[in-house]
Amino acid sequence: MTYLLAVSGIYGDVLHECVACRTQKIRYWRRKSFQYTHGDSRKAFDIYRCENCGTGFLNRPPHSKWLQSIYQYSGQALTQATTLADVLDREAEYPNCTVDAARMSRQAERFNGSDNRQALDIGSGFGFYTQALRRVGYQTVSINPGRYENEVFKCLNGDEPLPVMFENYQPSGQFGVVMMSQVLEHLLEPDKAIGKVSGLLAPGGVLACAVPNYASFLVKLLGTKDNACLWVPEHVNYFTEEGLIALLERNGFRIVKVEQITRVPFNALSKRLRLEGRLAAIVDRWVKRLQSPFSGFMNLLGLGIYINLYAVKK
Ligand SMILES: [Zn+2]
Repeated sequence: MTYLLAVSGIYGDVLHECVACRTQKIRYWRRKSFQYTHGDSRKAFDIYRCENCGTGFLNRPPHSKWLQSIYQYSGQALTQATTLADVLDREAEYPNCTVDAARMSRQAERFNGSDNRQALDIGSGFGFYTQALRRVGYQTVSINPGRYENEVFKCLNGDEPLPVMFENYQPSGQFGVVMMSQVLEHLLEPDKAIGKVSGLLAPGGVLACAVPNYASFLVKLLGTKDNACLWVPEHVNYFTEEGLIALLERNGFRIVKVEQITRVPFNALSKRLRLEGRLAAIVDRWVKRLQSPFSGFMNLLGLGIYINLYAVKK
């Protein structure tokens, strides 16, 4: 893609401390190369791991200008525009964003101990989180740099997000809820971002965040072939529960709830085995049936695919 070639620097500065807990006990873990689109040459990134909190991160990370050039279109690897109808079709077949948005908004409302009814949706994507926050009674401000996503957002919600990166967002007031779903893993300086979020929240206000789990069974099974968490180079940080908690507590938060979420598309197995027709339908039915106990067990062991965390500003 031309916008990738337009930016000369691929890598940013070398990191000397953990992005989550800030200790210097970090060590090389593995290398992963990526191909953003067909035709691009492959680039290799080194993943480092913190020996204190277990969090992983790219080191050297991608250059900020290069990441921004990707995110001005999409944070979800969209390489062309999509429509609300297509997004809603996918949600109808495999409910995902709508379920997460409704659950996280309900929880945020439950934990918001301030009387502030303003919510900030950082990295608002297609707009399902903003929609859910409005449904539980919040006025919202949404920010998202992705042009393709913002067009869908407008069709869904009627207004438009501020098309900026969170680093460049200049707030005018305080919030009772800040939503960060699938955002922290994309940010080059998560500590700085959480410090800024802390300053934006009214005392008693709540941060609801969701990140992929670096300790998930997918990473353990697939290693660097996993793309839910280790999606290089868009995901630059790979959090563990321990790392995420350390990051928030250092920035003036009290953790009120941590839970893990595991959802695998019911047709993932039949697709991978290249099954068709009746056989695919039978396998899909069994996956649907076994999914709930399997997911519950993985979450219980701390091996779930996503971490959801709620933290109150002290
Ligand atoms: Zn650490």
